[in-house]
Amino acid sequence: MERLVEIEKFENEETIEITLRPNVWNEYIGQNQIKKNLGVFIEASKKRNEALDHVLFFGPPGLGKTTLALIIASEMNANIKVTAAPMIEKSGDLAALLTNLEEGDILFIDEIHRLSPAVEEILYSSMEDFRIDIIIGSGPAAQTVKIDLPRFTLIGATTRAGMLSNPLRDRFGMNFRMQFYDHDELSKIITQASVKLDKEIVHEASMEIAKRSRGTPRIALRLLKRVRDFADVANEKDIKHSRTEYALEELGINSHGFDEMDIRLLNLLAGANGRAIGLSTIAAALSEDEGTVEDVLEPYLIANGYLERTAKGRKATRSTYEILNVSLPDQEELLS
Ligand code: ADP
Repeated sequence: MERLVEIEKFENEETIEITLRPNVWNEYIGQNQIKKNLGVFIEASKKRNEALDHVLFFGPPGLGKTTLALIIASEMNANIKVTAAPMIEKSGDLAALLTNLEEGDILFIDEIHRLSPAVEEILYSSMEDFRIDIIIGSGPAAQTVKIDLPRFTLIGATTRAGMLSNPLRDRFGMNFRMQFYDHDELSKIITQASVKLDKEIVHEASMEIAKRSRGTPRIALRLLKRVRDFADVANEKDIKHSRTEYALEELGINSHGFDEMDIRLLNLLAGANGRAIGLSTIAAALSEDEGTVEDVLEPYLIANGYLERTAKGRKATRSTYEILNVSLPDQEELLS
């Protein structure tokens, strides 16, 4: 079964996300520092009539990286092409994408850390010099053809900043780390989306959903849609607090927004009696790959003080024991 608090997109979720996706600045809630800085850069490049410098967004899935790229495009009045690194298999695929761009266009590449080294190589010269060198033929007869590209903007998104090679990272003029959203921000996102869904929600109810959304708009919107189903079936015009509580209870959503996987990870850490556990051991115990543990599970727990990364591995914090309602380790000094 699909987990409602899963951060990655469900298969059929694309359509509804497009409907609910904000397309103007003031509908994009939160991430205020990023919005402020981007606003300045966008205005400056518009004044100079130049393409925006290349931008990199990093942070866990569902925090609004793609949405931000689309808003930048509309602010710049630019065309945007959206793709993801796994779709660009060969250098020829990237060359085709780049040579089809026009002056000022934006190319958005999701999961940019997954580009192959050969493709990345082509990206370097195109980002820096707006030129690519293509080798035609092979052996001694091979020839290099230089192709000039229009001035375009590359927007990259990644969940794993650490996996980006230095030369690639250095070629982005702007680098932004996405933050988890607080309850007020999520509640605003939920309210705004409910208006678009033509099903208004009372403030208390949107706050209730916000608290259980793991700081992530994608999860908040997904929960909103499920709660709306409960309200529709009960023939209620608006989404009320009592219906929301009932629906979330029925859906088995934890009141801290923790996922079943979060709880398993926290239990594992608490079971180590104050000692650190290595990433590979955690991944094996949860049957997940290390990347998912690092990029998807851990950031939210760290941001909320339930997990600490140390040189020896991952550790439970005092809050971990408190939230699980289990007794503290024998040697309390092992805790941070
Ligand atoms: P990412 O690219 O980081 O995985 P998306 O941009 O696809 O995340 O965002 C997931 C969904 O959450 C979008 O459909 C959008 O409607 C919503 N969303 C994300 N960030 C915001 C925000 N700041 N304000 C309003 N809605 C948002």
